[in-house]
Amino acid sequence: MISLGIDPSGSERRRSGLAVLDDDLKVYTWTAMTNEEICRAAREARPDVVAIDSPLSLPKGRCCARTSCPCAVRGIVRAADRAVAKLGYHPFWTLLPSMVNLTLRGISFKERMEAEGLKVIEVYPGAAQDRLGVPRKKAGVDLLEEALRDLGIRFRDPGRKRVHDELDAVTAAYVGICYLQGRYEAAGPSDEIQIILPLSLRTS
Ligand SMILES: [Zn+2]
Repeated sequence: MISLGIDPSGSERRRSGLAVLDDDLKVYTWTAMTNEEICRAAREARPDVVAIDSPLSLPKGRCCARTSCPCAVRGIVRAADRAVAKLGYHPFWTLLPSMVNLTLRGISFKERMEAEGLKVIEVYPGAAQDRLGVPRKKAGVDLLEEALRDLGIRFRDPGRKRVHDELDAVTAAYVGICYLQGRYEAAGPSDEIQIILPLSLRTS
């Protein structure tokens, strides 16, 4: 099984992290800028799942992200966001002004990749890292990479210095593997997009 993790930026002008992880936990990571590069990577990796660290839907009842549209009365938060918050995490609301570009980009990736027959899930590495005992990125890339190694992940190019976008993509890809193996919890109502969280390694 292969999982492609993507930690997208909000624009083609900033780099996004990508990680291809197999179920032996061997991973290859890199960064990409354009939508084309990212969608091509998804095609070429032939993953069983694509796990994207970004909102992949608008709040229910929203037709767009414009604040001037009548749909704006439906707000900026999805049921899945609220469900993740209820679990004790702090997601950024889907249509916060600082999130709009990322959300719209994430939705476009989902649409393009699903049109090519790929399975796409939404993940939230912040929650995943907490549940897996992996430090957040403010702890520094070295600690984060070490914690991923402790999970059993083996980097194919161990000597190379990675950026945190790549390591967040590894976490996303790992959640994708958990999803494929049935070791996950889905937050949010089942008739809307759900956020996939790995089961906690800390629970006995
Ligand atoms: Zn609208």
